[in-house]
Amino acid sequence: MVIFRWYRSIPSWSLPVVLALLLVLAPYLGVGSGTQRLLLLTCILSLVTSGLSLSFGYAGELALGQTAMYATGAYLTGYLAMHWVNDALLLVALSAVAALVVGLVSGVPGLRLGGWSLAMTSFFLVLLVPQFLDLLEKYTGGAIGMVGIPAPKMFGHKLTAVGFYLLVAIITVVWFALMRNLITSRHGIAFQVLRQSPVLASSLGISVYRLKLTAYAVGAIPAGIAGALFAYVDKYLSPHSFGFTLAVTVLAAAILGGAKSIYGPLVGAAVMQYGPLRSSDFEQYSQVIYGIFLIVAGTLVANGVAGLVTKGLRRLENRFAGAPPGGEVDLAAPSHRHTALSLPPMEGARLEVTGIRKNFGGLQALGGVSLVAEPGRITALIGPNGSGKTTLLNMICGYYKTDEGTITVGGEDITGRPTHRVARAGVSRTFQTPLFPEDISVGEAVAAGSYMSPYVGMPSSILRLPAYRRAAASDQDRVSRVLGLLGLTDLAGVEAASLPLGTRRLLEVARALVSSPRVLLLDEVASGLDEDEIERLAEIIRAIRDAGTTVILVEHNFKLVLSLADTIRVLAQGELIASGSPAEIENHPRVLTEYLGVRQEAQS
Ligand code: ADP
Ligand code: MG
Repeated sequence: MVIFRWYRSIPSWSLPVVLALLLVLAPYLGVGSGTQRLLLLTCILSLVTSGLSLSFGYAGELALGQTAMYATGAYLTGYLAMHWVNDALLLVALSAVAALVVGLVSGVPGLRLGGWSLAMTSFFLVLLVPQFLDLLEKYTGGAIGMVGIPAPKMFGHKLTAVGFYLLVAIITVVWFALMRNLITSRHGIAFQVLRQSPVLASSLGISVYRLKLTAYAVGAIPAGIAGALFAYVDKYLSPHSFGFTLAVTVLAAAILGGAKSIYGPLVGAAVMQYGPLRSSDFEQYSQVIYGIFLIVAGTLVANGVAGLVTKGLRRLENRFAGAPPGGEVDLAAPSHRHTALSLPPMEGARLEVTGIRKNFGGLQALGGVSLVAEPGRITALIGPNGSGKTTLLNMICGYYKTDEGTITVGGEDITGRPTHRVARAGVSRTFQTPLFPEDISVGEAVAAGSYMSPYVGMPSSILRLPAYRRAAASDQDRVSRVLGLLGLTDLAGVEAASLPLGTRRLLEVARALVSSPRVLLLDEVASGLDEDEIERLAEIIRAIRDAGTTVILVEHNFKLVLSLADTIRVLAQGELIASGSPAEIENHPRVLTEYLGVRQEAQS
């Protein structure tokens, strides 16, 4: 217990900092040259692996092209050091750029085609590396290899063995520090959302294609850097070092360390270097052993060693710190009851849907629906199951292409725009089935809603520039305000996906609200909530309307609709059959017949 409290009081960055110091200072701590070499190779392998874990572990795209980028860096550095200028830092930088270019060139077609094509393209890229090296024999030395690479120099001075070790160790430490900054920024959350749910990612304004390409291209950089460093290790390059075995080694290191983990690649690379790669007998059987290992590890330790450690720590934490596993929010509790409900003004936009038609195969889901939703008003959309309500929301969001008709937001035509661009026009939504990626806390899930507002680029996030700091601070403000509004403050640290349905629905509203949307689409947010929760939700929706947003409320609960809506549209079998004020709809003859069931329920 005491130990545990002590453990919790140390900041999370202290362990990495201590390890980084040990790594950099190893030569001065009596570590022999043999071990130094192993550490050096571990650093190099961990850099390559880190690239894979960014695209595979975080962005969810299995792409093995790192071997090709590694080879690019290595041969480029070897060649330039011999024939142009031998400056390790300059060549490391050039190799990073060259690798980035290889990443973009192979990533664009691979990702454009979608599905598994990046996995395929990058796989073939890896298989082609030896052929390329052969083809460029004049420069690479072909099968014989590149011989005669000079010892590294920096600013005209030859580096000693220890000097080179320091260079590699420091570059590795800096890279992992930058990766940590990236992963703990909004982009890290965006990666997790992207990996688990591209649909959700695009509804938050994230361009799935661009973010995946970025992850793959950024992941190319450390591979190129690692290649440049590797060229100086033995001052000799052989095509054998860049074959398929390397690709599998990197994959094994990534999975072993935990692909979705910042420092996992270091753990995986260390295990690979100290274990299998050291024994020469191993070479012969390496692919078989890796293959078996990957199958076993892939099924048993999904998140690698780093994942196991994190899980273990979390379990200990729950046990000793007596942290309530939590989940239920008591919305009826006095603390929630008396929270004043006021939202800062939001700028709504008029949503106009004209003549929208959509067929799925032979089935007509929408047969020419037109409606207008005004800012500062709640427009309810009701209708029996299967009448096309969700489909209409999906059309507005750009998930489906319209067969006919137009959609405008604030006078701007958004018909046919991809989902992430509709989101960027200020349209925010909740999902009928709440969508929350695993391993994301409530706070992070809500913060994900403001990925685009304002957008902070990766360079700013990685370098923690003022733009990032400002956005991070305002994110935190907005997130805690919205969580407070919904009475979810106490749950900020709890895993979102583990919450009960009712709470997840409220969380969907929180996530949609945090970006101050111009148009808010709510799809059956009240279903599964109890009376108290519904009452709270109704207050919140009113507050959102009063703040000025355009609200579209798709809802089954007729009583709730009557009490909330300013105006109601009724859909049946993809056609609008009635529209009017709550009083008019309540007494509308066609609605009465279509909704007899619902009305009896509402009156009882
Ligand atoms: P609601 O939300 O009003 O209950 P939906 O919009 O989900 O209804 O569905 C309207 C109709 O369109 C249903 O008949 C449904 O089966 C059909 N539909 C919805 N999405 C698809 C799809 N992706 N492919 C085929 N049919 C679909
Ligand atoms: Mg629906």
